[in-house]
Amino acid sequence: MATKEGAFTHLSGKTRDGKEIEIAANIACTVEAEPAFAKGAEGIGLFRTEMLFMDRATAPDEDEQFHAYKTVLEAAEGKPVIIRTMDIGGDKPIEYLNLPHEHNPFLGYRAVRIYPQFISLFHTQIRAILRAAPFGKTKVMIPMIQSIEEIRWVKAQINTVKAQMEQDGVAYGEFELGIMVEIPSVAFIMDQFCKEVDFFSIGSNDMTQYLLAVDRDNDNVAKLYNSLAPSFLRLLEAVVSGAHAHNKWVGLCGELGANKKVLPLLVGAGLDELSMAAPSIATTKAQLSQLDAQLCRELFIQACNCATIEEVEHLLEAFSRSQE
Ligand code: PEP
Ligand code: MG
Repeated sequence: MATKEGAFTHLSGKTRDGKEIEIAANIACTVEAEPAFAKGAEGIGLFRTEMLFMDRATAPDEDEQFHAYKTVLEAAEGKPVIIRTMDIGGDKPIEYLNLPHEHNPFLGYRAVRIYPQFISLFHTQIRAILRAAPFGKTKVMIPMIQSIEEIRWVKAQINTVKAQMEQDGVAYGEFELGIMVEIPSVAFIMDQFCKEVDFFSIGSNDMTQYLLAVDRDNDNVAKLYNSLAPSFLRLLEAVVSGAHAHNKWVGLCGELGANKKVLPLLVGAGLDELSMAAPSIATTKAQLSQLDAQLCRELFIQACNCATIEEVEHLLEAFSRSQE
């Protein structure tokens, strides 16, 4: 079995009937980049840069960050790399920032919400990415966006940093700008977001937690945390169709992307990319090659019309049996 799946490592992600879906890797640090490509990643769908800021006494400076981003972009050899700006705060405390202790950190001071207070930290990160951008296909993604005001503020900051770099005579490259879709309210104004950004990536971990109001790390409610909820599937449909209506690319980079059982639904949802931990890449490509995109679409529509998670699971089981 391992050999058979291994044969898919360096093929592109494609269904039996020829629909291409990019299979990318999630990484948390630079040393994970090369092994991810060796395991068949068609890009980096999520570079969690906050790890560069954690477990140390001070924040990484511009040069250190520049080298980190450049290393990953060079390892990618022209394949796309989505660099997520720091998703710190909330449940990811960083001593040297002295962030307030919160009772409800997942609904609190986190990610893009802390950037105005730590503006020089954010500007330094953007400047390091802009310097690294000429070394590959750079895409930048902002976490925890929930309003148009926030993304417009981010764009204004990027322009400020560019203007400063021009004044300083520092060379930089361009990047595509996207947002993580992990706060469900975004789904209702996809048309507005499409006017502001180049791409989207669904953070299914947070999107499930926020849609269903279930803390993703709380064992007491773990049974309620389930992305097969028909409400979640309909949300997925709204995001993907909302993006595609304006010809925008939309991927998914939460844990759901590597879930074998759910893959037919993700194909049926029409996602352009699935990003996952690198060890799952070859098996996902192998499984994808057995699926028919049109049948997956029909399955997904049926699943969206289910009343319960149990009904969705029965549908998936029947679908899987029909594939044997
Ligand atoms: C997500 O929320 O699905 C995601 C990929 O981001 P993180 O798990 O880092 O919050
Ligand atoms: Mg998230």
